[in-house]
Amino acid sequence: MAAAPFHDRDGWVWMDGEFVPQREAKVHVLTHAMHYASCVFEGERAYDGEIFRSRDHSERLHKSAKILGFQVPYAVDEIERAKQELLNKMGFSDAYVRVLAWRGSEQLGVSAKSNTIHAAVATWQWGDYFADKMAGIRLTIAPWRRPAPDTAPCNSKAAGLYMICTLSKHAAEDAGFNDALMFDWRGQIAEATGANIFFVRDGVIHTPTPDCFLNGFTRQTVIKLAREKGIEVVERAIFPNELATFSEAFLTGSAAEVTPIREIAGMPFKPGKISEELVHGYSALTRRKNA
Ligand code: PMP
Repeated sequence: MAAAPFHDRDGWVWMDGEFVPQREAKVHVLTHAMHYASCVFEGERAYDGEIFRSRDHSERLHKSAKILGFQVPYAVDEIERAKQELLNKMGFSDAYVRVLAWRGSEQLGVSAKSNTIHAAVATWQWGDYFADKMAGIRLTIAPWRRPAPDTAPCNSKAAGLYMICTLSKHAAEDAGFNDALMFDWRGQIAEATGANIFFVRDGVIHTPTPDCFLNGFTRQTVIKLAREKGIEVVERAIFPNELATFSEAFLTGSAAEVTPIREIAGMPFKPGKISEELVHGYSALTRRKNA
């Protein structure tokens, strides 16, 4: 049975400093964020009651907002407290946590300098982003490209950047794939619609340099983990004509964790030894109690 929609569930949402019943966690229809995408967000996972890289996420929320020209009205410590209190109140130990900040409803035009800024935290229990990880997922090529850094604020985890992700993911799903591989404006391989991408060739990991897309925390953690395991990791420009030369490929993200890929647009990949080592290594790390 499908889960109840978010607007019709029991539980709580932290909103502008207070816990409100989930059914009442509403915004006005003339909210600037809804018309002009003036919103930034974070997607995080709690493992055994502790959010992995929690503070990094809260700091990135602040940074994302700053890039969009606004200030989150709650300090990093306050966001940290809100997330933990919400998890406790909901009684979740393994859960996804969504934090967001957005421009409100005082002014509704392209300019919105006087609008108040709002923030919220919600959480829900969520299993694997992609079912049956080690089987590997199938990607197609996205019809949209990641924009150049002077075309969109690519270092902000800003809602507006996800317009092309949703379009690409829908196109992939309509064609029977799990997700889409996005190229960038230069035609280089960039990332998936909500996760970073890695490849393996002859025991060496290759991953695109994050110069026009999010340098994900999971990406950074996995690079460190691989290097600690003695695996060489090369960050560089990767072109589509190299795809056929790689044996393994996998995605990384707070939601996706480490997810092996078994196909990219007809090209086969084997969820192999290195992917498996990192799937398990990341899982062990997220479940380690490290304050
Ligand atoms: N790229 C995009 C477009 C994403 O949405 C995400 C998920 N936040 C990532 C990469 C991975 O980032 P992280 O590992 O910090 O979750």
